[in-house]
Amino acid sequence: MDKPSSSQLHTTPLPIREGQGGGSSGGGSTLLFPGSFDPFTRGHANLVERALALFGEVVIAVGINPQKPGWIPAEERLRALREYYKSDARVRVESYTGLTVDFAASIGARAILRGLRSVKDYEYELSMADVNRQLAAIETVILFADPELAAISSSVVRELAHFGKDITPFLPEGFPKII
Ligand code: ADP
Repeated sequence: MDKPSSSQLHTTPLPIREGQGGGSSGGGSTLLFPGSFDPFTRGHANLVERALALFGEVVIAVGINPQKPGWIPAEERLRALREYYKSDARVRVESYTGLTVDFAASIGARAILRGLRSVKDYEYELSMADVNRQLAAIETVILFADPELAAISSSVVRELAHFGKDITPFLPEGFPKII
């Protein structure tokens, strides 16, 4: 009945075909936080921090879609994230192509982390969580946005940067320079 359409499938962060496969029994306490992070914002950092109270390890995974290079080059996003989290052994920063569920399996992730800012996010996150659970029996852990950070989105930050505004207030404090 609740059939995910193929277009929903393609709304996954990284809709490329070659998944990384790889097997793992899962079951650890690793939480996979997939996203574009273009750029990584204070909203994202807040989710990571709160998730670390629940899981032993958070893997931040930057989805790479060669057809959509994005605003900040992926290598640059990775470099800045690794630099920012370098002293926290509980956080790993990776990149992946293909389906999120395949990457989750390859690292033995217990669940996928996503954030919910408003009802606008709800339908998208619901269908993704549904599809991912049907595809790979993996759960999605949703954390509600901190109300003070709920208005922050990567797209708004990109837009502000485009018009020459200072985006520093929207990035985590002490985040390496990205543009
Ligand atoms: P994607 O391209 O996969 O949507 P994003 O990098 O935009 O990836 O976001 C990754 C996740 O972080 C999404 O679940 C999104 O809802 C969540 N998120 C983004 N901004 C915030 C914020 N300010 N507060 C809480 N969650 C957020």
